[in-house]
Amino acid sequence: MNEQLADIKKDFSQWYLDVVYKAELADQSPVRGCIVIRPYGYAIWELIRDRLDTRIKATGHQNASFPLLIPESFLKREAEHVEGFSPELAVVTHAGGKELEEPLVVRPTSETIIHYMFARWLTSWRDLPIKINQWANVVRWEMRTRPFLRTTEFFWQEGHTAHETAAEAEAEARMMLKEYIDLAHEYLAIPVIAGRKSEHEKFPGADLTLTYEALMQDGKALQMGTSHLISQSFARAFNMSFQDRNGQQAYPYLTSWGATTRLVGAVVMTHGDQKGLILPPKIAPIQVVIIPIYKAGTDATVINEALERIKQTLSPWRIHVDAAENLTPGAKFYHWELKGVPLRLEVGPRDIAQGQVVIADRITGKKQVVAHDDLARFVDVSLEEMQTTLLERARQRLSAQWHKVAKLADFAAQLEADNGLYQAGWCGDAACEAILKQHKATTRCLLNEKTLTVCFQCDKASIGDVLIAKAY
Ligand SMILES: [Zn+2]
Repeated sequence: MNEQLADIKKDFSQWYLDVVYKAELADQSPVRGCIVIRPYGYAIWELIRDRLDTRIKATGHQNASFPLLIPESFLKREAEHVEGFSPELAVVTHAGGKELEEPLVVRPTSETIIHYMFARWLTSWRDLPIKINQWANVVRWEMRTRPFLRTTEFFWQEGHTAHETAAEAEAEARMMLKEYIDLAHEYLAIPVIAGRKSEHEKFPGADLTLTYEALMQDGKALQMGTSHLISQSFARAFNMSFQDRNGQQAYPYLTSWGATTRLVGAVVMTHGDQKGLILPPKIAPIQVVIIPIYKAGTDATVINEALERIKQTLSPWRIHVDAAENLTPGAKFYHWELKGVPLRLEVGPRDIAQGQVVIADRITGKKQVVAHDDLARFVDVSLEEMQTTLLERARQRLSAQWHKVAKLADFAAQLEADNGLYQAGWCGDAACEAILKQHKATTRCLLNEKTLTVCFQCDKASIGDVLIAKAY
């Protein structure tokens, strides 16, 4: 129990903020809606980023960098895109002491400027595919912000590709969705549900938006990331034509896909408990924290020698020795539990004399005595097991809060009171979808299955199952 934190069961929303700030993941900034990501939070993001970057390169993409500022006219070239993003744009009108001839938009996303460049680079089918990724910060003027989940400025990667055929582009968009799902399962230990967004929920300017969604502990859904098939109208708007294999002018098929610092928020909300954060070992900046227990009358050199041996034994892992002298062991335990470190190792004089250490894991808090000779194996197995346990726990929660339902009239009260995911039939009409707003819910994604025959709202036949939830 950490009394510094709001009650996770009664006030999840405040609990989340408490964990983010008190575990030193982020701090409030003087700029409205923007956060400062502190070193510990940034280290988690770096581990996520490194894994994703490796996979982006392994699947044939190259990193590049495009300008932060985009001519305003670029945004206006594609009608749906400008309509979707206009309310969120930050615009630079003055620079160098003068009013600019053409205002510049701080990128909310980079399709337009990247497509402008693709048009310059593309002349023949031989130039395709183009597969680019950018790691960047973007700005969307959000009215209601929440650290990591929705901030005015956020960090992400945005992949942008151009292909000769529609089939190739769709395969690309699906491949990257799968990469994101693997990242969520294998690294973040978060089970997700994939599907496509409705017309109303899709990316402005996309023909198809694929999404993967997770369920947080409070039963609200979180869109983890998206992968889009971009409309060819972008290619036309930016004169991105090329000579195809038959010598005809053609337009390429485009994709874009992104994952953001929101994933850090997802980890907090999926795994944390009343003691604070719980980090999946694969993305924990510190996997094992080592706490020496100095007792009155013990020879510090004995403990320090033991610490050196342990550091060597555990060198394959990310470890930290907390040797601060001004804090009691109890205060240190509490601090590292709040920060979600998977394993805590206690090194006291009596244990050293017996060639052993005491290890506690962050999920159960259970203490075990481990012989020094067995330490490396024990840590290896424990971290592996914790990674699996976290995913399994989240899976069980997901299935417990996933309801198959028929009519909105019957499940609306439950949706409002308990949150959760509701799988229903849908006729595909925007009017039926819009009614969900009255219950503060939206369609999260259309599933690739059809188990219900009638729409949740009207009497028309269902076009396929849809997932409904309240969402962040
Ligand atoms: Zn309907």
